[in-house]
Amino acid sequence: MKKALVVANWKCNPSTEKEAEKILNEVKRQIRKITNVQVVICPPFLFLPSLKKKINNTKIVLGAQNVFYQSGPFTGEISPEMLKRFGVKYVIVGHSERRKLGENDQIINKKIKSLLELKMSPILCVGETKEEREKEKQFEVVERQIQEALRNIKKTLLGNLIIAYEPVWAISTNKGKLCSSDDIMTMKLFIKQLFEKNFGLKISERVKILYGGSVDDKNIQLVRSAGIDGVLVGSASLKPEKFILILKAFS
Ligand code: PEP
Repeated sequence: MKKALVVANWKCNPSTEKEAEKILNEVKRQIRKITNVQVVICPPFLFLPSLKKKINNTKIVLGAQNVFYQSGPFTGEISPEMLKRFGVKYVIVGHSERRKLGENDQIINKKIKSLLELKMSPILCVGETKEEREKEKQFEVVERQIQEALRNIKKTLLGNLIIAYEPVWAISTNKGKLCSSDDIMTMKLFIKQLFEKNFGLKISERVKILYGGSVDDKNIQLVRSAGIDGVLVGSASLKPEKFILILKAFS
């Protein structure tokens, strides 16, 4: 059976290394019985070194929430090569919260390209806003975001790519504003067909498609029934008791 991929996006949380270690330790304690799931925890960069020491011999690997596209005179940035040498393989790219801060399709394209060239696994976030959904433009938006992100990238590099469908209106709502299972499934099929049309069946079969947007322990069965390859979890991933239930749903 194919392993599900569950990615925890801690965003700009928690405030201290001690709290970060506490969350990880709790997940570690409860994760032993869980099988068939690849767990990726993406903490703030600052906590990667201390958490790395704690994940030995567990099913957990560490990921990053962002990256720049090269090394050199770029104050405040972290390069793909630094992450790779540190042992990070998965990197979230193009999250809607970063797009809101000004990250555009050209920057996202450079990041995806440099990660794929290093054989790393970018998790490309795509998804429509509330207004775009109301105008039924979700397919147009997702197609454009994927095409722009992958512009001029060799087809042979795409095997490690992961797509996270995250409708912007469903992220961080805490009000149960979840995308319906049917809508997630329809979007998954649309993305698969898009890959098949542009890059062929083999790539389309390899690319993993995740769903993200207010996933928690209460709605995970519904989300899972959409037939996705895994989930990208924000706020619920900071609560070990909820996160473990999400993992169990795939186990
Ligand atoms: C996210 O940040 O990618 C996300 C899905 O957040 P949340 O689960 O909190 O909606």
